[in-house]
Amino acid sequence: MSGLNLDPVQLDRYSRHIIMDDVGPTGQQRLLDADVLVVGAGGLGAPVVQYLAAAGVGTLRIVDDDDVERSNLQRQIIHADADVGTPKAESARAYVERLNPDVDVRAHVAHLDQSNVDALLDGVDFVVDCSDNFSTRFLVNDACVLREIPFSHAAIYRFEGQAITVTPDSACYRCLFPEAPPAGTIPDCAEAGVLGVLPGTMGCVQATECVKALLGVGDLLAGRLLFYDAAAMSFEEVPVEANPGCPVCGDDPAIDSVADVDYAERCAVQS
Ligand SMILES: [Zn+2]
Repeated sequence: MSGLNLDPVQLDRYSRHIIMDDVGPTGQQRLLDADVLVVGAGGLGAPVVQYLAAAGVGTLRIVDDDDVERSNLQRQIIHADADVGTPKAESARAYVERLNPDVDVRAHVAHLDQSNVDALLDGVDFVVDCSDNFSTRFLVNDACVLREIPFSHAAIYRFEGQAITVTPDSACYRCLFPEAPPAGTIPDCAEAGVLGVLPGTMGCVQATECVKALLGVGDLLAGRLLFYDAAAMSFEEVPVEANPGCPVCGDDPAIDSVADVDYAERCAVQS
């Protein structure tokens, strides 16, 4: 069995996984063999990176082109005061290297765009979209749908979060939102504010979905849009059907390559 590849240190490190019937040594080996792309090392990306690294996801690609700012530290908890001014992707890599030497962490100090998305997705098993702008969300959606790579989406706003997991069989982000809203119509974190712990909750939902998808256990948040209201401390969900007219996953899709899409300028929302 593949679990025999685990060395004694790994049997110790992952013992609370290994004793679970739903994981076991085979499941843990599956995590160690997995390759995950995290898009954005901000508020959502921070707990995603923490838990995926701790869980022993073997290859973690982290793409982010921003530097750590002091105003990020209220919620982006993998970055510390001494990291201000350094690239978030590099700060995230340093965090992972401290946490778990099993993880091959690859920091990409870049903005995910049409020029690099193919290379960054090559060989990836799951994508966690922790981006803060609509153009990146649509690019991640289209690229993942076209390549049949499952991914988790989440977004945050003040006290509220939403999340959905997109699989090759379920509704995609464009089934929900065919086009991005006009730039400037949605306030970003700097304008609207965000409760610091909110992305922690939503990022943990995303990390949970990623681990479940890699293990093939449980029911994914696919075809269900989850809403979280931190002020009310309530979780609600609405079913989402795949749209046959969806421009990327529908019956007669207009998009068959991300190269042909105008993802417009980055319209920031929240991170
Ligand atoms: Zn769709």
